[in-house]
Formats: sequence, structure tokens, C-alpha cells
Amino acid sequence: MHTFEFERATDSAAAVATAAHAKTAQQGADVRFVAGGTTLLDLMKLNVETPVRVIDINRLPLDTIEATPDSGLKIGATVRNSDLANHPMVQRDYAVLSQAILSGASAQLRNMATTAGNILQRTRCMYFRDTAMPCNKREPGTGCPAITANNRTLAILGASEHCIATNPSDMCVAMAALDAKIHIQGPKGQRAIAFGDFHLLPGSTPHRETVLEPGDLITHVTLPPPIAGSKQLYLKLRDRASYEFALASAAVVLTINGGKITEARIALGGVGTKPWRSPEAEAALTNKTANDVTFRQAAEAALRGARPQSENGFKIELAKRCLTHALRTAAAS
Ligand SMILES: Cc1cc2nc3c(=O)[nH]c(=O)nc-3n(C[C@H](O)[C@H](O)[C@H](O)COP(=O)(O)OP(=O)(O)OC[C@H]3O[C@@H](n4cnc5c(N)ncnc54)[C@H](O)[C@@H]3O)c2cc1C
Ligand code: SF4
Repeated sequence: MHTFEFERATDSAAAVATAAHAKTAQQGADVRFVAGGTTLLDLMKLNVETPVRVIDINRLPLDTIEATPDSGLKIGATVRNSDLANHPMVQRDYAVLSQAILSGASAQLRNMATTAGNILQRTRCMYFRDTAMPCNKREPGTGCPAITANNRTLAILGASEHCIATNPSDMCVAMAALDAKIHIQGPKGQRAIAFGDFHLLPGSTPHRETVLEPGDLITHVTLPPPIAGSKQLYLKLRDRASYEFALASAAVVLTINGGKITEARIALGGVGTKPWRSPEAEAALTNKTANDVTFRQAAEAALRGARPQSENGFKIELAKRCLTHALRTAAAS
């Protein structure tokens, strides 16, 4: 691993001011915050990330989970994934979030991994993680070998001719379905961003993954008040039962009255270049009878825009079955 300066932040304004000197907050950033380190240190060992300065944010007071005045939830940036998944309010009111987190990684990793770190985890595309290979995300303009080679696990929604990498997070899929907001303290003050607007599609700039600018520190995430009586489920399909990323996953939040779906929030994982909210599936479900025909129609709508690569055409049917099964199971719960 290359050499770098390490410092412990005790004041968020000072940490933001230091990080604001970075040339970018994206791939190649020379200043990086570190939280759990389970993504950053991994990539530093591989020389995929080579920051010259690393600012440890674990001593900042960002590690609490609290109810908000409007009965929603405020989740600090450094709250560990395991604490979030096992929090009684999350288990009671946002079960889909608890299930999504617990489906990811391992208990040891979840004990280290944080809310903000999870939101900013990087793709598992094998070429991105191998500096001997070209990769537009790691080194803009070098090409995308995945398009003509190993792409079995990569994206079928939101890809471009420059990058087809999947966003690997489980937690983010649930947060997308729950209409979370990401709160940021930056050099120019504080701002909040709707979850769906935070991650960027690759387009011609796959090295830019989020709207973050130099110095931006995620301070917390908020969830709106829970939907009373909603049925929630996260279903993850993968090559083995644990310690594996999703090939396809679905986060489902449904409200059903008298057999009719009155509200639906749907997001998919493992198939998109960002956590994939599906307004198409939601429209196909809303005001419809909760039955298998409706569920399959929603799945067809969600995957209508899918564009398979040479090795991952199977994901289209897999994702449809994943969503159909998640809807059926949630509705019956
Ligand atoms: C073997 C393995 C298996 C895994 N399996 C899964 C899985 O199945 N599902 C899944 O979803 N995830 C999985 N993960 C990924 C894991 O969830 C992430 O590594 C973890 O969530 C990252 O959190 P962290 O706190 O360790 O991030 P860090 O490594 O500390 O940081 C990640 C990035 O976020 C930035 N950052 C951190 N905090 C802030 C902040 N407050 N503001 C601004 N920037 C910040 C850092 O600078 C860095 O760029 C796996 C990881 C490993 C190593
Ligand atoms: S899919 Fe994206 S991350 Fe993977 S090699 Fe292509 S450009 Fe790089």
C-alpha cells in the first residue's frame, strides 16, 4: 500500500475544511474520510484508491439513531450497520431496511460498516478492482473490458457504453424504497438530497458516482414517518446463501386495503448501475387487486427497460421472479 497521512477528526467543520482541498470527491480523490474502512482500506490495499490524506471520522458525534419531530427516523453517518439493523424502531417500522442490511456481508463486516460508508461503497466489478486492467470508472478514457468479457454479475438497467457496473449495496435498495434523504455538511453549509438523486448514472462519466463535491461529509440520513400498516420485505437472490452480493434483489413496501393495493414503493438491487427505484412497477401495482397477475405485470414493467450484456441475460427473468415472489410474500404476511 502507498504511504498516506492519517488524522482523527474531532470537529466536523475542520474535517470538511480539510477535505475541501481535495481535487475531487470522486474516484482518485486525494483526501478521503474513513469510517468502518471495509471498502476504503480494501481498495487502498489494491491501489485502486490512493488518497494522500485519510481523515478518520469515527470520533465525530454522528453515531446515534433518533426519532425525528415528525415521527420519522434520523440515522447518524457512523451508525454501524448491525446497530441499525437491530434497532427496535427499525425492526418495527422499517423492517425492509433491517432485512436488507442483515442480508449483506457478514456479522463481522456489519459490525464495522457504517451508514454513510455503505451508501458510498464501490462496485465489485472485477476490472475496477484490478489495476492491471483498463476501466473507465477507475481511469477515465481507458475503456470498459467488462462489456465484451466477464459481465455475468453486472448491470442490466442504467448502463452506458462506458460502464455497466452494478451498485452492490443491499441497504441502499431499502433506503431507495423508503424515500430516505441524505444530509450533507459541505464547505458551503448543509444540504439534503433525496436518495434517488444522490447516485448518478454512469453515462459518459462513470468515475462520478454521486453528487458529492470535495469536502462534503454525510452527517446523517433521515427516513419519513413509517406508513401505518404497510407490509415490507427485502428478498435477495445470490449465488450462495451468505457472504455474497445480490444477482437480483427487491425491496417492497405495500399498503393493501380490502385486497386492493393503495400504495406501493418498489426498488431493485443487483441489476442497476444505482439503487433502482421502479416507478413503473409502482404504477402497475397502485389501485390494483393484490394477486399474482398484478405482481407479474409489475415485474414486467420494472424490467421493460432492461438491456442485457453477453453473460447476464438470465438476470432479466431472475429479477422478475424475485420481485413477483417478494410481492406475493409481502402481500400474504
Ligand atoms: C467481503 C465483503 C462482502 C460484502 N458483502 C456485502 C453485501 O453482501 N451487501 C452489501 O450491501 N455490502 C457488502 N459489502 C460492502 C460493505 O457493506 C461496505 O464495505 C460497507 O458498508 C462500507 O462501510 P464502511 O463504513 O466500512 O466504509 P468506508 O470503507 O469507511 O468508506 C467507504 C467510502 O465512503 C466514504 N465515507 C465514509 N463515511 C463518509 C461520510 N460520513 N461522508 C462522506 N464520505 C464518507 C469513504 O471516504 C470511502 O470512500 C461487503 C464488503 C466486503 C469486504
Ligand atoms: S463496468 Fe465499469 S467498473 Fe467495470 S470495467 Fe467497465 S468501466 Fe470499469
